Amino acid sequence: MAGYDSETIEMYPAFPAPASAVPSRPMAAESALPIPVAALSGGPGHILDPASGLADWLTRRGQPAWRARAIHRWLHGRRAASFADMTDLPRDLRAELDADFRIWTTTIAVHKRADDGTEKLLLELADGQRIECVLLRDGIRRTVCISSQVGCAMGCVFCASGIDGVIRNLTTGEIVEQLLRLAALLPADERLSHIVVMGMGEPLANLDRLLPALAEAQDPQGLGISQRRITISTVGLPPAIDRLAAANPGYHLAVSLHAADDELRTRLVPVNKAIGLADVMTAADRYWETSGRRLTFEYVLLGGVNDSPDHAADLARLMGHRAALVNVIPYNAVAGMPWQEPTQAARERFLDVLREAGVNVQVRRRKGARIDAACGQLRRAAAQATTTSSLVAASGAVGSGTAATGPES
Ligand code: SAH
Repeated sequence: MAGYDSETIEMYPAFPAPASAVPSRPMAAESALPIPVAALSGGPGHILDPASGLADWLTRRGQPAWRARAIHRWLHGRRAASFADMTDLPRDLRAELDADFRIWTTTIAVHKRADDGTEKLLLELADGQRIECVLLRDGIRRTVCISSQVGCAMGCVFCASGIDGVIRNLTTGEIVEQLLRLAALLPADERLSHIVVMGMGEPLANLDRLLPALAEAQDPQGLGISQRRITISTVGLPPAIDRLAAANPGYHLAVSLHAADDELRTRLVPVNKAIGLADVMTAADRYWETSGRRLTFEYVLLGGVNDSPDHAADLARLMGHRAALVNVIPYNAVAGMPWQEPTQAARERFLDVLREAGVNVQVRRRKGARIDAACGQLRRAAAQATTTSSLVAASGAVGSGTAATGPES
């Protein structure tokens, strides 16, 4: 356990390899990814899902409609962990709810805590799949980083989440459940302040389930997180960016670039081949026009690959006069992958070129070092490890987390 003194590493059942993960990239369309019946059927409804049917269920029992709001407030605002906690509901009703609904469809497979207060959960879903979510503490901010899919189809060559392709979309309830599981890690007098959808998966490939979950997060009687404090990070799928703009342009959009020319970007982000940077940038501009909110462009610095002064100059040219923020993310090494972190000198040079060109730039701070807090890393380390000690060994590499990208404070 050397180096892990202040971390809590709780292991629940041992770690079988993830259930037959069928690599399925590239993903053609969202509809190609039905959620398997096994993920949710066979049990009562998931009450954290806005489509749980609770209101109708109450009506059928002759219960007043306001009970649905009261139950909602218990779950989302008062952090009730069970129906038994809802002490102002009639006892019989609590028992019936318990028989017909589930609050938690996930179990916590691993819970890790880093020295800087970052906590990471590996959640096991009802069908045995696993996803990650993270709580980041930064000053008064309490930011959560959540997943939108099991795996990812985008195939970014340096990212641990996409190694086995995408397995399935998360349900709205599973996305909400990550928020509540992370909120429950806070003391009673603290609340979540920001959400970044930067965990596993491509959020814009699962918009239909993500948007109701993010709407839920804004409920003033629940988590009450304003949309201005919610960031959606995307590889850049133009039609889905347009759909998001039409549905709700209030979210902060972060577009993962990683290269400023098509040749290099296609090497690093294979979906770029079919899209092309020009279309990504015009879709981002359209989102900006609709939302009026400054865009963020993410750029993972890979040592010796995309971190030269020329690359920085290309990026500055691509940014042009856009009032955007470039978020430079030093690569967080993934075990078994050939990519290197940039040297300090290369990173500084890269930033200098951008700054001299007048680009608004920010370096993402390291969070969650040594707990595999970058997307997909913990899930991978856990799948490869069968004992606590090998998990610790697998996660021992220096790493950084997905810190807040800095939407409104
Ligand atoms: N699919 C979305 C969300 C992915 S995670 C997207 O592409 O934006 C959020 C960011 O973390 C992305 O920019 C992603 O490229 C980056 N990332 C993935 N693996 C990383 C790693 N090992 N080190 C640093 N950043 C990484």
